[in-house]
Amino acid sequence: SMTTPLYRRVLVKISGEALMGGAGFGLDPATVDRIAEEVAGLRNEGVEVALVVGGGNIFRGVQVAASGIDRATGDYMGMLATVMNALALGASIERFGATARVMSALEMPAVCETFSRPKALRHFERGHVMIFAAGTGNPFFTTDTAAALRAAEMGCDALLKATNVDGVYTADPKKDPTAVRYDRVSYDEAIARDLKVMDAAAFALARENRIPVIVFSIHEPGSIKATVMGNGRGTLVGG
Ligand code: UDP
Repeated sequence: SMTTPLYRRVLVKISGEALMGGAGFGLDPATVDRIAEEVAGLRNEGVEVALVVGGGNIFRGVQVAASGIDRATGDYMGMLATVMNALALGASIERFGATARVMSALEMPAVCETFSRPKALRHFERGHVMIFAAGTGNPFFTTDTAAALRAAEMGCDALLKATNVDGVYTADPKKDPTAVRYDRVSYDEAIARDLKVMDAAAFALARENRIPVIVFSIHEPGSIKATVMGNGRGTLVGG
């Protein structure tokens, strides 16, 4: 390739909503394929890629609080939703010529492998795209926290948080027209200004392990690759 990637091993957090496309629920095949093609393309650049995928397009634990199902049960349902998304992404990535391995934090051996750090590292060495499903495997956590956790234990150089907006702003850009996007912001400033990059547990893990978090828009075609190459539009949250 013409340029060298800025990061050699990345963890990309894809929210469930990113996979719905224009629909209000579930998986939009064209959107899944677009993201999968981009991820498969990163392998051609020699970048090691892991994904943590959310489940909000199907189910969120907090939704059931009103319906009589307890929160923990709802959270397990949410984790199962992430497994469906992971399977869809894995199948699509393989159609685009890369190999993918789904590992779930909850055991379901008939469906996919169970997460094991040594096995995941071996898959990485063999060039597979890793897709980590079922979050952390624990209720009361989020897939953002799972993303920071897996990024730390897999030795990733960066956590790429694909979102609906193209970075971190001084205020909510949808509500405040004077909001300004940061190119870079320190972990400490993000906390002091309550910039809500990720939930507190996720952010604490990233900061503790000095993993830069790059927040960028998933809706911009090519944004994952551009971010990995170091010429994307987004906000770098770092030390
Ligand atoms: N979840 C959980 N533990 C985890 C990760 C996820 O209990 O470690 C549950 C939680 O109910 C959450 C749902 O799975 O609402 C889907 O994950 P998340 O909301 O993080 O997905 P996203 O917002 O990224 O689509």
